Amino acid sequence: MARTGALATLVLSGIVAAFATIAPVSEPEVVPGAIAESLEIRPLEGVLPAATSLVVEERFQRGDTVASLFARLGLDGEDTSALLRDPGLRQLRPGTTVSATVDSIGALQSLDFVAARDVQVRVTRGESGFSVSEQRAPLETRVSMKSGVIRSSLFAAADASGIPDAIAIQVADVFGGDIDFHRDLRRGDRFTVVYETLTHQGLTVRSGRVLAAEFRNQGKTYRAVWYAGVDGDGRKSGGYYAPDGKNLRRAFLRSPLEFSRVTSGFGMRMHPFMQSWRAHRGVDYGAPSGTRVRAVGDGRVEFAGRQGGYGNVVILRHSGQYSTLYAHLSGFPKDIRRGAHVAQGDTIGYVGKTGWATGPHLHYEFRIAGEARNPLAVTLPQALPVPPAELATFVRQAQPLVARLDLLTSGSIALLE
Ligand SMILES: [Zn+2]
Repeated sequence: MARTGALATLVLSGIVAAFATIAPVSEPEVVPGAIAESLEIRPLEGVLPAATSLVVEERFQRGDTVASLFARLGLDGEDTSALLRDPGLRQLRPGTTVSATVDSIGALQSLDFVAARDVQVRVTRGESGFSVSEQRAPLETRVSMKSGVIRSSLFAAADASGIPDAIAIQVADVFGGDIDFHRDLRRGDRFTVVYETLTHQGLTVRSGRVLAAEFRNQGKTYRAVWYAGVDGDGRKSGGYYAPDGKNLRRAFLRSPLEFSRVTSGFGMRMHPFMQSWRAHRGVDYGAPSGTRVRAVGDGRVEFAGRQGGYGNVVILRHSGQYSTLYAHLSGFPKDIRRGAHVAQGDTIGYVGKTGWATGPHLHYEFRIAGEARNPLAVTLPQALPVPPAELATFVRQAQPLVARLDLLTSGSIALLE
C-alpha cells in the first residue's frame, strides 16, 4: 500500500486528474517538475491544459522543523523563509500530513494542514507575499475495520495491522473490565475492531471512536458495541455494551489511581501513628504528591473537606449501597463539593499527606451499606445494562455493527493488513 508521503497528486488547473505512486518525495533527485513529466497524461479530449501545478504531500515527523519539512517538499528556501516564523506554522504537530501545491518551477502556491482542534491552516501566495488563514476544518467520518493477532503486546499487534495507538488504547479500555491487558494476553489472541477515522479532503486527521470490537482472549470471545442513547444517571452518556445489552463496564474501577502500587493492604496491621495493632479499613496506595485521584464510579459527593486523621477527604455515594472514601488528599478540584455529581474516572482530588500520614499516599475505602470491605477482593458489580425501554433501539443500532464483526471474524472478506 502506498504511504502518504510517497504519494504525489497531479493537479491540472485545480482539478485532480491523475495520481501516481512515486519514489519518496524526500529523495533529493525527485524534483516536482520531473514527476509531472514522468507521468503520461492524456488530456481529456484536449480540454485540459498541460500540468501547471502539482500537489505534494508529506508527513511532519517527530524531530522535524518547518525548514526540514519544506526541504523535503522541495520548496525554495529563499522563497519561503518568511513563512518559517509564521505563528500559523508553529501549530504543526508530528504526524500531521501537509499538502503543498507548487508550480512547474517548484515555487509554493499554497499549503494546507489540519492543526489541533481541527483548525485548517492554509497558506496562499498573493500579490504581496504569503498570507496564512485559519478556519474550522470540515471533517468527514469514515468507518475502518481491522484485525490483529497478538504476538507480544496489544500495541505491537495494532502496529502490525496499521491500527492507530488511540484505537488500541480504546480497545484496551473497552475490554478492561474483563481482560487484564498486562497479565491475561496470550500469543495467538485475536481482535477485530470497527472504528471511525476522521478525514479532511481525503487526509486522515485523527481517529475517532471505536464503534464495535471483538476480542478472543484465551479461547473466550468478548464483543462490544458502542451505544450513545443511554441515560445512566439522568445524563446523556454513551458506553459499550455486549450485543445482548449487558454493560461491559464495571460499576467501579478496581483502583482510584491509574498507576499505583498497594503499600498497605486491608486488614490488621501495626498502625504507623498509633503504634498498636488496628484494623486497616482500606487500602493504601503509594503515589507522588499531586497524582490525580479518580472517582471509581458514578456518584455524588457526600463530603469534601477536612476530617481528623483522614485529613482532606472525599466521600462519594454511589447507587445501591455503595460508598467510597479517599483520604490524605493535598486538595480537590473546585467543583468537588457536597452534592456535586461525578462520573467514573473524574478527578476528585490529588494525592497528599494531610491528616495522619507519614508520607504522601492515598488511603482508599470501599463500603457496602456503611461497612468497609476489601476493594481488592470484593466482586465488583457490572454497570447498568441498556434500559429495557431502549433495548429495541439498541438492538437496531447494534445489528449492523455486529454483522461487520461477523464478516471480519468469519474470514469471508479479506482482512486489511
Ligand atoms: Zn490507610
